[in-house]
Amino acid sequence: MSTPLADIDPCPACGGRDFHKLFEKNGRAFWRCAGCGLERQYPLPTAEQIREYYARNYRDGRLRPMVEEAEMTRLRAETRLSEVRPFLKGDRWLDVGCSSGAFVAEARRAGINAEGTELAQEAVDEAVAAGLPVRQGPIESVGEDGEFDVVTAFDVLEHVADPAAFMHNARRLLKPGGMIALSVPNLSSVTRRMMGKRWYFYIPDSHLFYFNPENMGRFLERHGFAVLHTARTTKQVTAAYAVTQLEAHNPLLYSLARPIVGIMPKRIADGAVPLHLGEILVVAKLGAAASTNGQHETGERDR
Ligand SMILES: [Zn+2]
Repeated sequence: MSTPLADIDPCPACGGRDFHKLFEKNGRAFWRCAGCGLERQYPLPTAEQIREYYARNYRDGRLRPMVEEAEMTRLRAETRLSEVRPFLKGDRWLDVGCSSGAFVAEARRAGINAEGTELAQEAVDEAVAAGLPVRQGPIESVGEDGEFDVVTAFDVLEHVADPAAFMHNARRLLKPGGMIALSVPNLSSVTRRMMGKRWYFYIPDSHLFYFNPENMGRFLERHGFAVLHTARTTKQVTAAYAVTQLEAHNPLLYSLARPIVGIMPKRIADGAVPLHLGEILVVAKLGAAASTNGQHETGERDR
């Protein structure tokens, strides 16, 4: 499983083309960049397959609980805002991949002039019904050049078929010195190491690119940003929600866990606790001098 791939497009973090195959899952091949440790699916699903995946999952499957569990979603947004706000300047914010607008709502409650953009029409409709300034469309088609002080994209970059183009558009939307805040699954996380190819973030058709703190730094610098802050981050999860996720990822554990959650008092089943699922939060500034912590050219610190 170590045949280098000759015709693959270059790594968005280091520009390398030497990828080695890790494994296949549901017929999709996962590869690792020899230069920086970034992982990706290849070949990528087609745009039509990706559209079908989101339409299906938003209505019927994995994304549904996120919409229904409003309080959990609100707590996540509140936590994200408190994590990023100390680093971010200016009050024109755009949240890309904003789903039904929980983060936009939280930022607006805090006095920030935030808006959002989202691909899934059902999510956009919910946001608009709640009075939020959320538009339907990819990052390529939103906003004016230099319109925003801040672009946020939580749990988005791993879904994007062309991360380099995404960053090009983030730069386009930002004012000089503007900032970006991202969260992505972390390849160096404990959960990834423990679970290997069974890691719940390895999702065929959905999670296309995977980073660790080092190659994320290289990726951002390669696209004109300097990293200001990198941290492990948590996500608020309820027991009820965790079990619905198991249904997709581990049917056996789901069959064991569902009766337990079923007999929990609702107050406990719906109570959200912050979990280290294995994600990182990164804040970076456009056009600033190179980061001074010197970690981003050292390669795979955690291997
Ligand atoms: Zn690379």
